[in-house]
Amino acid sequence: MTTTRTFGLFINGETVDAASGDTRQLVEPASGQPFGTVHLAGPEDVDRAVAAARAALDGAWGRTGGTERSRLLHALADAILANRAELVELEARNVGKAVSSVKAEVGGAAECFRFYASAIGTISGRSNALGASLLTYTLKEPVGVAAQIVPWNYPLLMAVWKLAPALAAGCPVVLKTDPQTPATALRIAELALEVGFPAGAINVIAADGPGTGSYLVRHPGVDKVAFTGSTRTGIEIMKLAAESIKRVTLELGGKSPNLVFADANLADAIPSSVWAIYYACGQSCEARSRVLVEQSLYDDFVARFVEAAAKIKQGDPLEADTQIGSLISLAHRERVHGFVDRGSAGGAEVVLGGKLPDGPGAFYPPTVLAQVDNAMEIAQEEVFGPVVTVIPFADEADAIRIANDVRYGLFATVWSGDPARALRVASRIKSGMVGINMPYTAFPGIPFGGYKQSGFGRELSVDAIDAYLETKGILVNTGNRPINPFGL
Ligand code: NAD
Repeated sequence: MTTTRTFGLFINGETVDAASGDTRQLVEPASGQPFGTVHLAGPEDVDRAVAAARAALDGAWGRTGGTERSRLLHALADAILANRAELVELEARNVGKAVSSVKAEVGGAAECFRFYASAIGTISGRSNALGASLLTYTLKEPVGVAAQIVPWNYPLLMAVWKLAPALAAGCPVVLKTDPQTPATALRIAELALEVGFPAGAINVIAADGPGTGSYLVRHPGVDKVAFTGSTRTGIEIMKLAAESIKRVTLELGGKSPNLVFADANLADAIPSSVWAIYYACGQSCEARSRVLVEQSLYDDFVARFVEAAAKIKQGDPLEADTQIGSLISLAHRERVHGFVDRGSAGGAEVVLGGKLPDGPGAFYPPTVLAQVDNAMEIAQEEVFGPVVTVIPFADEADAIRIANDVRYGLFATVWSGDPARALRVASRIKSGMVGINMPYTAFPGIPFGGYKQSGFGRELSVDAIDAYLETKGILVNTGNRPINPFGL
């Protein structure tokens, strides 16, 4: 039997209702069945959450040293693993994502906290000796209260990728989830309190973006804004944060290329290319949604790719052998299907999927569009669904030109049996990350982030801690010489 629950706001160590009493019903995207009720934060709740975070910074959390923060992050990783089954079920039901994927993501969340628990040791300043009379050194200090805004596609991982470096740096956080997907981030906040994080260090609220989200970004009590979401919203957030020169990092959209040269090992390249677009039903920022294939290989590749993609097991996210579940909502499915319809009307050939299935749930099948020109909307815009475009290229220079001919630059994968060529291509692609002969993207320690309109700032690495720190230079008169600048 399906159980539903109420998701409140987690502010100052307590689960509370929204001040306005505003709530929304949530449904499970894969079944259409009720999932629960979420309280939606308004400005008054943002004020409360920011005040709690600031009080934590001025109080217990601000006094918590690095060793203790590291211990707490490890304890939170332990708590995540101890509550793995519950987190997996919450995420799978809330997002419609297969438990086989979510299990790995929950493990990744624990690993992320462990990575930053250790990375705290990298926080350090420098000292410079500028002659006998002056000692200078730098201090790294928490930037202040961090507002973190995350999307619905990986509600747990996106929250954890943001929380962990901020907490490592000593910042308190107000994390805003997408209103559709509050479940796991709220549970993380509860677990954090249980393992000993002081009240106010982690506050989690679900709220609509325009309105309450904007209010949070502009809030005078917020010092730093970290955002993951679409490029369109990133532009808006950057403008709002500019009003008071808030520190900003942006993890935005992608239209990542997957380049397959004729000399590639196709036994690896084909199943990996299929995984790289269809994992999470295509709702990944780094989904390799443009497969660029050397012309001589094109027809054979498309046939084999379609054969492999047709075997993906899509269905009930709670079944152990399901590989992909549904999209996040019926509204998002309409949007995805609109891209496919327009692509097909514009001359692309739909060689797999592309039809709205009957039955309940926001399912959309793995879809392949062939004979796509890179200038088409379907090759330029982020569809954020299980839809791949397969585009032919003539030679290496043409492949690089097409790969870079897009406003995004998040990830790229290169498949080639020639190591020199693979390295050459990797160095010429304008993206924050490049994989060579492997499809995987996210490892703690490897900076994750974009070039161009995919954003700026890096997550998952020590670079992310820096984004939550200010550098203060201290200049000390060592007393070896009298100081009298005007000679008075
Ligand atoms: P979105 O931009 O619509 O929303 C993201 C978040 O921003 C949500 O919490 C939303 O409520 C909030 N928001 C919207 N308008 C706002 C405003 N004016 N002020 C403050 N907050 C606001 O994105 P989405 O559709 O939820 O997520 C999908 C997008 O996220 C895709 O573009 C995807 O590529 C991107 N993404 C990027 C990464 C990355 O690491 N680069 C990771 C995951 C997702």
